[in-house]
Amino acid sequence: MRLPERRFALALCATLLGCNRASTPASAGPAPFTSANPFASASPLLYQAPPFDRIHDADYQPAIEEGMRRQLAEVAAIASDTAAPGFDNTIVPLERSGALLTRASKVFIAMTQANTDDTLQRVQTEEAPRLAAHLDAILMNDSLFRRVRSIYERRADLGLDSVQGFLVERYYRDFVRAGALLAEADKARLRALNQEESKLATAFQNRLLAATKAGAVVVGDKSELDGLGDAEIAAAAEAARERKLDGKWLLPLQNTTQQPAQASLKNRALRQRLFIASTTRTERGDSNDTRDIVKRLAQLRAQRAQLLGYPSVAAFVLDDRMAKTPEAAIKLLSDLVPAATARAAREAEKLQAKINAQRGGFKLAPWDWQYYAEQVRKAEYALDESQLMPYFELDRVLKDGVFFAANRLYGLTFKQRTDLPVYHPDVRVFEVFDADGTSLALWYCDYFKRDNKGGGAWEDAFVDGSGLLGTKPVVFNVANFTKPAPGQPALLRFDDVKTMFHEFGHALHAMLTRVEYPRLTGTQDQASPHVRPGIRHHRVRSRRPARHGMAQPAGGPAATGYRGLRVPGAQAVRRGRARGAAALPHDLLLPHLERRVLRRLLRVLVERGAR
Ligand SMILES: [Zn+2]
Repeated sequence: MRLPERRFALALCATLLGCNRASTPASAGPAPFTSANPFASASPLLYQAPPFDRIHDADYQPAIEEGMRRQLAEVAAIASDTAAPGFDNTIVPLERSGALLTRASKVFIAMTQANTDDTLQRVQTEEAPRLAAHLDAILMNDSLFRRVRSIYERRADLGLDSVQGFLVERYYRDFVRAGALLAEADKARLRALNQEESKLATAFQNRLLAATKAGAVVVGDKSELDGLGDAEIAAAAEAARERKLDGKWLLPLQNTTQQPAQASLKNRALRQRLFIASTTRTERGDSNDTRDIVKRLAQLRAQRAQLLGYPSVAAFVLDDRMAKTPEAAIKLLSDLVPAATARAAREAEKLQAKINAQRGGFKLAPWDWQYYAEQVRKAEYALDESQLMPYFELDRVLKDGVFFAANRLYGLTFKQRTDLPVYHPDVRVFEVFDADGTSLALWYCDYFKRDNKGGGAWEDAFVDGSGLLGTKPVVFNVANFTKPAPGQPALLRFDDVKTMFHEFGHALHAMLTRVEYPRLTGTQDQASPHVRPGIRHHRVRSRRPARHGMAQPAGGPAATGYRGLRVPGAQAVRRGRARGAAALPHDLLLPHLERRVLRRLLRVLVERGAR
């Protein structure tokens, strides 16, 4: 769900829920909030872009604390209104509430995920349970819920338009799913569960980050790296230097179980080391071990689901999603099992045959899979991934690929804004213009892997576009591509190229949809506040079939997209804009970018590169 975007702080908890250490002692408390705080008023920069040149670590906590205080006061005023509850005196002011909290927390959450440090982790640890309590204080406020419920029950008679009607239903569901209908004793239990969860989730996030950093594989002998390209070896040497391991090479862990280098490393022992480092990163019995946390989180969530009247967490979560029931979701997956396992078995035979043909003398292991799959690919399709990489220089992919596609599909153009401040030198900002030259949005990209960045790739916003609030989207993409050695070009793997397109598709969605109400921004209107994972993270991209599966086939005539290609997604986006609807299904256009447009774009890139 798009946590941070919820005006309503639903957001906060959920993401922060993902946060930290239960036993950390509370600090003396944040510095006082003053008008000098960079979050004190809306940023004067274009589209309220975060003033990163003025934001310091010490600014977040006072702004979040004051933001919660102000939102509770706003909510109390709404709840105690003596006028009969209506859309305009209840839902609209709730949508407007929490401006300071949203402003500060969206940037804060983005930084804890993409550019964290000890101070931010401490603040996250302290604020996660407070934010969980803040959320509970709003969603379990009886007089507020009575108003929301009254509006919900009379929604058909209130002259609401379809978006307002949808918003009212969404609000009612948010309250109910957060425990608004429970008896007082059960509410107290729920609050306690939420407190514990918020602490554990923070701890999980920070331990995972530390474990991933600690799990990086150090190589002392360059010959072990045989099979990697020169640029990759240079990047590994640079990564080692950054950790003061001069003269060695470092293979940082990516988010996924399988590590990309395993596809090229000829040294089987190193492939194995890398695989083991990856798969056991959080189960070594050290201070980064997450197993106890995971177990306890599962218990807490199961208890919460039961409190709320569901037999399981899966039933609770899916009740608010398209699949509706665990049975439906499990059937979707288990129907795939026979074909998928048969296929995997056939592939394993092929890989083993390759090993045998090379007189390897060993049985295929998980760390061999990618390496021999690559060999088979070369043999059968004459496709050598390492030879593709020189065509995928990051800037070329971005400008001649991603921007090019966005221009052909939607007429968008992009202008880099070096005058806007960024939070790290690797970050770039672009202003995005519509086909008629109207300025639409700001888009930031932060592509290179860092030790203080969570794994995977994602999209989110510093500022959501909202008609009600008069804001335009300020969105960003974050990824973990290998950073090149100084002076070297950033060459991407084919998977990275797909990731760039994929995440940019989310950014397009955020930039092109017109949404009136903040609660309806984002791609996951159906998500619930207390169910992690936060924003559109693709920590393991393949694990999100349910969300990607939300895409509905676009009805009506398909629009003409890139070079005469038929792209239904384009039409859907335009229709979404035209009627100002919020709920453009997640990933509607991404499959097209990935499968069809991408194939042709690759050809363009390769052709241009060849000239
Ligand atoms: Zn996605």
